[in-house]
Amino acid sequence: MSPENEDRLCQQKPLIGVSRCLMGEAVRYDGGSKPVPWIRDILSEHCELLALCPEVEAGLGVPRPPVRLVGSMDSPRALGVEDPALDVTELLLKIGADKREAIAAMDGLILKAGSPSCGIFDTPVFDDEGMETGRGGGLFSRTCRENFPGLPLIDESFLENEAGRVGFLIQVFRYRCQRLRGQGFLSDDRTV
Ligand code: SF4
Repeated sequence: MSPENEDRLCQQKPLIGVSRCLMGEAVRYDGGSKPVPWIRDILSEHCELLALCPEVEAGLGVPRPPVRLVGSMDSPRALGVEDPALDVTELLLKIGADKREAIAAMDGLILKAGSPSCGIFDTPVFDDEGMETGRGGGLFSRTCRENFPGLPLIDESFLENEAGRVGFLIQVFRYRCQRLRGQGFLSDDRTV
């Protein structure tokens, strides 16, 4: 790539995917949202934000029956809370696969904690009797992590203080450098 094009690339903001409910959009199963003003008001000045909602994009609608993770910790299924016959596992896994190309262009993801789709660390997993057996990632975030192991991936709880916000942004810019070099868009002696 020419130095001029590299200059242009270095001036572009990093691209971060954000759960739509954290942007204040009313897309949760109950028709509500969980806005985090810092993301929309401050982070958006420094980064391009791309809002996404795996459940809405899977066609599940708003409002929709709540689901939870059931089964093994390694490969749980997303089943209806009130109607366990409702199984949206394949739909949610397919969205993760369908978004692979879009996520390949991202420099980070901020996802909603505790969600059966978006949660990263703390989504409860239940057994068939409804007892919680552990906590882990939601189905969408699992797919993102598997496809892009180095991608900075956090939930909103890590953005509650200055240290968490700065730490995430450092990861984002570092990943962006590695990604652009790996894709042949940035020479080794340049940084973004
Ligand atoms: S947590 Fe994820 S799937 Fe649930 S409403 Fe928010 S963006 Fe959509």
